[in-house]
Amino acid sequence: MNKRITSARATPPIFDDYDTETEAVYDAEFESIVRQMLVRIGEHPEREGLRRTPLRVAKAMDFLTSGYDMTVQDVVRNAVFEEQCEEMVIVKDIEFYSMCEHHILPFFGKAHVAYLPNNKVIGLSKIARIVDVFARRLQVQERLTNQIADAMMDILSPHGVAVIINASHFCMMMRGVQKQNSSTITSAMRGSFRENARSRAELMDLIKG
Ligand code: ZN
Repeated sequence: MNKRITSARATPPIFDDYDTETEAVYDAEFESIVRQMLVRIGEHPEREGLRRTPLRVAKAMDFLTSGYDMTVQDVVRNAVFEEQCEEMVIVKDIEFYSMCEHHILPFFGKAHVAYLPNNKVIGLSKIARIVDVFARRLQVQERLTNQIADAMMDILSPHGVAVIINASHFCMMMRGVQKQNSSTITSAMRGSFRENARSRAELMDLIKG
């Protein structure tokens, strides 16, 4: 993947984004594209408030898409433990922020991740980090949901995994149909959550509670 074509990203220069004195450049090519975009929408990139905007946008986009440079293995490291445990584990209300790949506008909300261990458990904070690995990319909510579920299956080989995501999409709220109060719920069920209605019912009870 040649997404990161500049070397700027590997060792970003350290300076204050709002320091208008410095002429520092973060990612020359990206900043030039943002400058062109500003002109295109009728702005004047040379005015004071916008002078460092290309640099700030380049940095922000790097952060918001940093999932491309992360793998699940990197974030999990060795936080998987053998444990005699087969009872359901749920991490609820994991807040996440992503961007839709159709409009490059944010969508954000809460992810609930549950699994039925097969004598292997994972450090709970790692589950939230797995969510970020996939959220910090251009996404569609359906794929995000499935990728989290598949990653959990790969790492833990559990009896089952369930991922439920409830999110609001700026592309629906700010443009198009302008429905500010709609939310989108997606789910991905693997293993016994898919096969066994009782596991699913128990999960729903616990999420509500
Ligand atoms: Zn969209």
